[in-house]
Amino acid sequence: MNYKEKELIIFDLDGTLADSKAPLDNDMADLIIKLLEVKKVAVISGGMFTQFEKQFLSNLPVSTNLLKNLFLLPTTGTRMYAWKDSGIEKNSTELSAGWHEGYSENISPEDRKNIIKSIEEAWEESDYKLPEHIFGERIEDRESQVTFSALGQEAPLELKKAWDPDKSRRQTIVNILKEKLPHFDVSMGGSTSVDVTMRGVNKAYGVNRLRDFLNISLEKMLFVGDEVIPGGNDFSVKEDGVDCINVSGKGETMEIIKELL
Ligand SMILES: [Mg+2]
Repeated sequence: MNYKEKELIIFDLDGTLADSKAPLDNDMADLIIKLLEVKKVAVISGGMFTQFEKQFLSNLPVSTNLLKNLFLLPTTGTRMYAWKDSGIEKNSTELSAGWHEGYSENISPEDRKNIIKSIEEAWEESDYKLPEHIFGERIEDRESQVTFSALGQEAPLELKKAWDPDKSRRQTIVNILKEKLPHFDVSMGGSTSVDVTMRGVNKAYGVNRLRDFLNISLEKMLFVGDEVIPGGNDFSVKEDGVDCINVSGKGETMEIIKELL
């Protein structure tokens, strides 16, 4: 793969740029800032924009003149946010602190209710025991996405990592949900989570919206993620024909960024 010809570098967040829901560390932040000086960068994650602010932006001491090169796609690419002078037109929603929404593909309230019910049924049918302790919400309605987190949104990382290390539990839930929700996309998200979005609205959808907004062909993009595997929430990007690198964690991602520089 010729890294030099890549114009847009797209990263997953959890498990790729940082540990699940953990803040971006300083070494990674330095590398991303250096990358923003020479390439456009996008981050696509299952979390909401508020999670991007907390986990990513607040730990990225970047000068504002570079932010026009950064594009944020929360909730698995079902929305996109751009910096005010990026050249991307905003849709109706105005956001504070210089960021605005480029698009949002929301699921109707009625469908969201139905998805929540299906997730509850899928858990029952999976025969997994309810965890002894739940940390925060288990099912979160994010408007453009409904997310199931087996141990709760706020569960400690160590517990999350131990819950489904071989991905078989999430895969079971994904398979049951796909049967129940044939008109939606279902994929594994973070270490304990499963995400439901509108059919065809996934990370690949976000990548294609970026292609149109930025006028950068898919060949000139590189995607780096830790779930570029069947059933994983990064896999749609590979299926779409974008050059993808599957990483085991942020250490490997840092090596890739150093090569890009
Ligand atoms: Mg990930």
